[in-house]
Amino acid sequence: DPTAPDSGSRVEASAALFERARAVTPGGVNSPVRAFSAVGGTPRFIERAEGAWLHDADGNAYVDLVCSWGPMLLGHSHPEVTAAVQAAVSRGTSYGTPTRAEVELVEEIVGRTPAERVRLVSSGTEATMSAIRLARGFTGRDLVVKFAGCYHGHVDALLAAAGSGVATHAVPGSPGVPEAVAAATLVLPYNDRAAVEAAFAEHGDRIACVITEAAPGNMGVVPPAYVDGQGFNAFLSATARAHGALFVSDEVMTGFRASRQGQWGLDGAQEGWVPDLMTFGKVMGGGFPAAAFGGRADVMALLSPDGPVYQAGTLSGNPVACAAGLTTLRLATDDVYSHLDRTATTLADAASEALAAAGVPHLVQRNGTMFSLFFTDEGVTEVVDFAGAQAQAQHRFRAFFHAMLDQGVYLPPSAFEAWFVSAAHDERAVEHVLAALPAAARAAAA
Ligand code: PLP
Repeated sequence: DPTAPDSGSRVEASAALFERARAVTPGGVNSPVRAFSAVGGTPRFIERAEGAWLHDADGNAYVDLVCSWGPMLLGHSHPEVTAAVQAAVSRGTSYGTPTRAEVELVEEIVGRTPAERVRLVSSGTEATMSAIRLARGFTGRDLVVKFAGCYHGHVDALLAAAGSGVATHAVPGSPGVPEAVAAATLVLPYNDRAAVEAAFAEHGDRIACVITEAAPGNMGVVPPAYVDGQGFNAFLSATARAHGALFVSDEVMTGFRASRQGQWGLDGAQEGWVPDLMTFGKVMGGGFPAAAFGGRADVMALLSPDGPVYQAGTLSGNPVACAAGLTTLRLATDDVYSHLDRTATTLADAASEALAAAGVPHLVQRNGTMFSLFFTDEGVTEVVDFAGAQAQAQHRFRAFFHAMLDQGVYLPPSAFEAWFVSAAHDERAVEHVLAALPAAARAAAA
């Protein structure tokens, strides 16, 4: 019974699999955050998923508020997506030639976004890596500006850690990233216009591009701030343009998720500006490895085979992934986004009420259909950057996370992540989460 209070607490099978995994794979996982390092305990090994629910190796069921870290916009095992995938598989799984499905998927992306030309790749990391190369190729400049707390995949140039102050030449964010690569990345505080202006004043003629999460979700949800009616993205776009640099909007997480047109639908489309380059992933792959980068036709024209900037991929535009992505996007109607919006509001409000009732200081931040909780100190009214996101009572998140997990609710196992809902989060799933919140809030209070 997934509604039993201890439904998430049997872990013998997951624990045994985790031990086997650790013997053959670093940390026992193929992507670090899955290891539960930030929250402790046993990562759940999932065996199947349907709609809003995950089912693990011990027979526990969880309402999934991670949705594969964003992609599963329609929920798991959506019958029409599954049928499209099965039909595609039956026609062969990879040809290494152009296909109709690629054209249709790219047309769908071009139809929803301001990107004029789009190239398909297999992961968000590849998308941002390729966009940076293209921006450097187009401008003939080397420096890249990014923001602390923004994650763009594990690209060398974009792993650079937060340096404090203005235009700090970053130290490598990971051993293995050459100093010279990290030194070409300037890391600035998010939403800090003065820092951006200072960086351009000092290095403007050497900056190839500014890259930012279109609306950060990887430090928790931190919306772009507005000053005198101008959003942070509009400011970045204008500042980059004034200095001959490109503005790269990373919509891997927000694309086709924050709204039908992604984050751009919430700001650029209203304010009348477009990014020079954009990156996409997650939702557009419908649960398969598909991602993309695109943008201005004159910039994209530099890409091979038309131009000299090289980029390629054996499985790029894979027909099965394209079938999953295309079907997902076609089914992602306005009704889906309204449902996501309402569900996010219900969950965010309920989480906030439960925490308030338990006397736990916190903030809930929303951006489009995405939201997250911050266990901030009393009196903090807004998190605007990574420093603010880091100033959290992490022990509260750990207690909250495990209390939710034990009651059959799967949250992202880190205090720095957005919560994701899907079209399949129906009343039953939502009620299940609401019922779990008071006890989790009391656990966070301890
Ligand atoms: N960009 C953003 C904004 C992301 O959230 C992610 C992944 O979480 C990436 C890029 C990297 O995508 P991938 O994990 O597919 O390489």
